[in-house]
Amino acid sequence: MAFDSLSDKLQNIFKNLRGKGRLTEADVKTALKEVKMALLEADVNFKVVKQFIKSVEERAIGQDVMQSLTPGQMVIKIVNEEMVSLMGSETTEIALKSGNEITVIMMAGLQGAGKTTTTAKLAGKFKSKGRKPLLAACDIYRPAAIEQLRINGEKQGVEVFSMGTNNNPVDIAKAAIQHAKNNNFNVVILDTAGRLHVDEDMMAELQHIKQEIAVDQTILVVDSMTGQDAVNVAATFNEKIGIDGVILTKLDGDTRGGAALSIKAVTGKPILYVGMGEKLSDLEQFYPDRMASRILGMGDVLTLIEKAEAQIDEEQAKKMGEKLKKAEFDFNDFLDYMGQIKNMGGIGSILNMLPGMGLGGQMKNMTVPDDAEDNLRRTEAIIYSMTAKERANPDILNPSRKNRIAKGAGVDISEVNRLVKQFDQMKKMMKQMPGIMKGAKKGRFRL
Ligand code: GDP
Repeated sequence: MAFDSLSDKLQNIFKNLRGKGRLTEADVKTALKEVKMALLEADVNFKVVKQFIKSVEERAIGQDVMQSLTPGQMVIKIVNEEMVSLMGSETTEIALKSGNEITVIMMAGLQGAGKTTTTAKLAGKFKSKGRKPLLAACDIYRPAAIEQLRINGEKQGVEVFSMGTNNNPVDIAKAAIQHAKNNNFNVVILDTAGRLHVDEDMMAELQHIKQEIAVDQTILVVDSMTGQDAVNVAATFNEKIGIDGVILTKLDGDTRGGAALSIKAVTGKPILYVGMGEKLSDLEQFYPDRMASRILGMGDVLTLIEKAEAQIDEEQAKKMGEKLKKAEFDFNDFLDYMGQIKNMGGIGSILNMLPGMGLGGQMKNMTVPDDAEDNLRRTEAIIYSMTAKERANPDILNPSRKNRIAKGAGVDISEVNRLVKQFDQMKKMMKQMPGIMKGAKKGRFRL
């Protein structure tokens, strides 16, 4: 599948980042150097990569990130955000005029890019949105192209306007628009001729159409399999005829993905749709955020990170940070901490966010044990069975106290021992993280 190789490489780099409790500037720089290589190998435009790495580095080497509790996650989050922004941030809809006013769309692209197929796919999309599209066959050089458009139009239940190969494209387009007016079509899609390579005649013809006809949207179809060529083609078309957006085809294939990441940055024009197969239904709206998640192989992890940011109570975290500083962290705080975990949707939903446990991490295939939530409840029961003094001073927990607590909570004494041990470990671990105080104060990641 598309992006597989890039995705694998990035996930490996992130696995290393996530596994580290603390990050140095050198760690981040090394990781970003690897990200840079991975992007270049995926055929992302060199200038785009350079700017991208610079933006990520500027943000990632800040104090907030390095001293947060989960710096690895923070860096990944920044990479994700910059990647979304690289692809245009928002989804761009093709602007259509309202009511019965006709929107004229000109499709352009090199031969073989998938223009004719995409034209029919797009007509299907408009139709499903309640529009009445008309396809106009303006490729007068290849009778086969006209026939292909006719067949695809028929499959989509969309009329195809054709005047054969003996008229010029401008006249055909004009006649098609007139036909649309007479028959209440409100979108006219012009399927123009492509060439094997960018050439002057083709550009001149497209310019001519735009001079003679009020084209509302010029959409370029490019083949993602051609990598940087696709980007160069997009830049040239934009320069010569002006384009409003790009449809990137064949993303279902084994493409390395560079075009998807470079087109917006190089041309300033958004990707509107992506072709995901040969069938006429295989056209998907382009979502920069979903595409970035897919490339980074992150799934829902990012949502969980946002959730954590939103859910953890600022004041509580601040207080906990202060307590840790003074090594006063006790079982009452442990209870608060567990409460926060529950607020975030339980153990299962936060598992992926913990360093080394992310979807791309070593524990990729780990599932949450069924009894994880049950363990949480038992832990709570144990703590509730402690006296106020014991909760505040865990050090006084001798065997006879532990025995009493175990009976009170209805668990075996070994469970109490395990919890006390875990608690000690957690306390130690947290003390080893010098960034926690600043992270907590800033209201940043505090898991
Ligand atoms: P045109 O010369 O630009 O009009 O290209 P065509 O529409 O004839 O498409 C060229 C070939 O690419 C055809 O075999 C299409 O079925 C195929 N094609 C177009 N879009 C996609 C896509 O998104 N995925 C795949 N796998 N094939 C596509």
